[in-house]
Amino acid sequence: RAKGSGRNSYAVFTEAMRDQARRRADLEQALRAALKQGELSVQYQPIIDLTTGALSGFEALMRWNHPELGMVSPLEFIPIAEDTGLIVASGAWLLEEAATQLAQWRSERPAGAPPVHMSVNVSVRQLRNAALVDVVRDVLQRTGLPADALWLELTESGVFEDLDLSLATLRELRELGVVLCIDDFGTGYSSLTYLRQFPASIVKIDRSFVSGIGVNPDDEAIVRTVIAMAHALGQQVVAEGIETSEHRDWLRRQGCDFGQGYLYSPPRPAQAQRSWIVEQQSAHASGLT
Ligand code: C2E
Ligand code: MG
Ligand code: MG
Ligand code: MG
Repeated sequence: RAKGSGRNSYAVFTEAMRDQARRRADLEQALRAALKQGELSVQYQPIIDLTTGALSGFEALMRWNHPELGMVSPLEFIPIAEDTGLIVASGAWLLEEAATQLAQWRSERPAGAPPVHMSVNVSVRQLRNAALVDVVRDVLQRTGLPADALWLELTESGVFEDLDLSLATLRELRELGVVLCIDDFGTGYSSLTYLRQFPASIVKIDRSFVSGIGVNPDDEAIVRTVIAMAHALGQQVVAEGIETSEHRDWLRRQGCDFGQGYLYSPPRPAQAQRSWIVEQQSAHASGLT
């Protein structure tokens, strides 16, 4: 490397870092006002029962439409919301919003159709906030939903980091009757000891493994093993990121319980998802799926 280029790349590096720090500070500032200003919204992605092909429920995913920057990815703003503690208020808002939407959709289901559930992502920061159990209890009471209609998704990396800190709250939530899910399973550094202690009844396999189906025998082996292990522990499995019919068919053959992904539907606003539900219902009624 030529002399002097080190200094140059250092200059570029710090500039990039400064831009990044500035964007982050801007976003942090804007996020403080976003909830009040109605910039946050929720999109819903269907979760399918792979055994029957029927709709099982939805995952609620937060969206932020910044007035100047446009849509900001949750991968960028959720960590900021967590670091600043804003996730506690916005998470409570999302729970209320998603549960209210679910109660409405359940009331519109035709008689005899299996009741649908709502899956909501909960960050560790929310879990370690003393109010979470009360927030969940209140939401259930206000909406009249049975507790098992509400699934809470906790990422493996977050919770297992310090499981002892979260365990009491997790047990309280479970006593309420809500369904606990381990999200993004396989992406963290958790050991089987942690898995055994975590009172979850659902394991969600991260889509980085699902995308290897039909391509990478190692990914296939991992998915097959996670399904077998979860079933042996009495847990059910959701596969994320199903993008092709090949993914779906392979997962069905392995006995995977549920799936979600672009093959079925991307996350969409409630209004748009509603027509999908109706379509799916009539397809089902006429034996098309
Ligand atoms: P996640 O909980 O694992 O959510 C699944 C992500 O995969 C979503 O990204 C979804 O849009 C995307 N996805 C679904 N199906 C497919 C597919 O077939 N192919 C591909 N390529 N992607 C698919 P999204 O909405 O960008 O959310 C990213 C992450 O941000 C979520 O991962 C979750 O960890 C976090 N997040 C989103 N909303 C919330 C929230 O309200 N609270 C918290 N704490 N975290 C949230
Ligand atoms: Mg999730
Ligand atoms: Mg996930
Ligand atoms: Mg994931």
